[in-house]
Amino acid sequence: MVTFGTATAAPGEKDTGRLEVGETRDGSTFGLPVAVVNGVDDGRTLYIQAASDGDELNGVGVIQRTLPQLDPTELSGTILVCGVVNYHAFQVAEHRNPIDDTKMNRAYPGDKTGTSSERIAAATFNAAISADYVLDLHQGSTSQMIDEVRVRCGTRHRLHEECLELAKVFGCGYILDQKGPDGQLARAAPDEGVPTIDPELGGCVGWDEDSIQRGINGVFNVLNYYGFLDGHHDTRPQTRASGFEQYGSPVGGLIDLKPDLGDRVARGETLFEVTDVFGEPKAEITADSSGVFWRARRLPQVATGEYVCSVGTNVDTY
Ligand SMILES: [Zn+2]
Repeated sequence: MVTFGTATAAPGEKDTGRLEVGETRDGSTFGLPVAVVNGVDDGRTLYIQAASDGDELNGVGVIQRTLPQLDPTELSGTILVCGVVNYHAFQVAEHRNPIDDTKMNRAYPGDKTGTSSERIAAATFNAAISADYVLDLHQGSTSQMIDEVRVRCGTRHRLHEECLELAKVFGCGYILDQKGPDGQLARAAPDEGVPTIDPELGGCVGWDEDSIQRGINGVFNVLNYYGFLDGHHDTRPQTRASGFEQYGSPVGGLIDLKPDLGDRVARGETLFEVTDVFGEPKAEITADSSGVFWRARRLPQVATGEYVCSVGTNVDTY
């Protein structure tokens, strides 16, 4: 038997349930939606979670469409799934947990007697470190972003190679290989010896079908490559950035982005222009380094200093 929250499955079975983590403000108990797919044959364990940021729904789309396709009688090993991590943020379609105004992916490994976010982090971290591989499905929030996979443990981490391999197997096409901030699951779980990646499935309001499909392909690539399923997966070279430069606007106004997402940009190339409300040019911002046009804000209006776009730099093929 494999148990995750109230989901319990014998070999060859799958089940769904709730992972209880406390009570809401009205005193009702609440739990995260979880699933167990227990393969008929022994094997490794994969943990997948989505909506760690409450407005990042593409990962939920991946889980929703992947789970019905998983047949435990054809599976070796076990898949543990948490479909919605940031319960409170998901309810109100926000990024951060409104109970403590915290970003969940800064709260790992969590604390089971701590804040709301720390308790949820601790509950899901337990499942993550019981696994052999972890996929923490994210996206570039509601901005526009390429589909990519983040390796966050840092190049000097003892699990760097394993995390990078997992990212290459997932196979979005792009990898950002850069040590992340403290509190990320993709940093905390490798410290416990579990290769972990943070697939970033585009960026949108609601669902993006192309990004969801790329995420589903990524999950099946992992299942085939690591022997959960009988299928075969050959890894393909990925475009890897190890630097990430963010650009803000030096003036207020309306932006006009020049490159498209995924375009190669040269040093000195124009990234965006800012005009005033009446169409008069105010500023033209160029790239400090060459790289890949990675992410951009969705709305055109900006204040001085406000985020506009990002370029992945130090690009190679891995
Ligand atoms: Zn996220």
